Amino acid sequence: MKKHNFSAGPCILPQEVFQEASQAILDYNNSGLSILEISHRSPAFVAVMEEARSLALELLGLKDKGYKALFLQGGASTQFLMVAYNLLEKKAAYLNTGTWSSKAIKEAKLFGEVVEVASSKDENFNYIPKSFTIPEDADYFHCTSNNTIFGTQIKKFPSTAKPLICDMSSDIFSRELDFSKFDLIYAGAQKNMGPAGTTLVVLKEEILGKVSREIPSMMDYQVHIGKDSMFNTPAVYAVYVSLLTLRWIKANGGIKAMEERNEQKADLIYNEIDRNPLFKGFARKEDRSPMNATFNLVDEGHKEIFDKMWKDAGVNGLNGHRSVGGYRASMYNAMPVESVQVVVDLMQELENKA
Ligand code: PMP
Repeated sequence: MKKHNFSAGPCILPQEVFQEASQAILDYNNSGLSILEISHRSPAFVAVMEEARSLALELLGLKDKGYKALFLQGGASTQFLMVAYNLLEKKAAYLNTGTWSSKAIKEAKLFGEVVEVASSKDENFNYIPKSFTIPEDADYFHCTSNNTIFGTQIKKFPSTAKPLICDMSSDIFSRELDFSKFDLIYAGAQKNMGPAGTTLVVLKEEILGKVSREIPSMMDYQVHIGKDSMFNTPAVYAVYVSLLTLRWIKANGGIKAMEERNEQKADLIYNEIDRNPLFKGFARKEDRSPMNATFNLVDEGHKEIFDKMWKDAGVNGLNGHRSVGGYRASMYNAMPVESVQVVVDLMQELENKA
């Protein structure tokens, strides 16, 4: 039986993508070759890379607006340092909204002064700080749009004349935003875009070339742009499966349709969290993430029975991250509403039993 997979990432992808992706391992487009055994320089794979880069920009509404899309390796964690390597000359401003922002800050400090403009650490990152000032002399401002662990999401991004850099690993392609406000967006593929192994970087070329340090080739965005994201062997399979997922997003109505369904799923679970006296939400209401709903039991005494209930019902990955405890329902684009309903029904069943 296929499980209801609430895993935070790697995570659920559309079933159609799994099917097409497995077929391509056996025989890619009736070529008599597996996608895994063809050269990354072959016309067949170059076409995959080009379509993936172009479709990523198209879905974000950034086509023909001076942006480039790259599929790099090393995860979003490598972007923590690549951003600073390429853009931090003297000082950068960071908003600290959780574990991933903190890690980005740590890496940036290797390259220059980092000003933490605000932090929600005082309340274990259960909210998004709203009032802060970005220093006039900052080279850029960095933030994390969705905090996968704590279940918070930035709803309104600051207006700033500084380059706006955003880690969108856990909510890219999930909601409509004016993406042209951002100068550089990065996202590990393994949530809404595909399997682990590649990271999408979308950037405006004009922000590059402003630091005085020498940048090693693999760390240099300009090098990757110059080689059409093929400076070295890309993660061919991860890029291919990302392409299949991007095509699925487009065929299913694009980001707008994803957002509508994501809101429906979020309403369903958050309404139950608020209604059910046995549970309480972790994140502040106004900052709640539709991607990762974090919640706890009011009385931990119900843990054993609830954990058994959801595991028996074929639910996977509902455990909260150790820094929050309780539960986390990750409801990425590919998650059907029906699976969220299963968890909501179980929460009601627990209430009836208790
Ligand atoms: N940023 C965010 C928001 C994340 O959720 C994660 C991973 N869960 C990362 C960065 C780190 O990504 P990676 O493991 O691909 O380096």
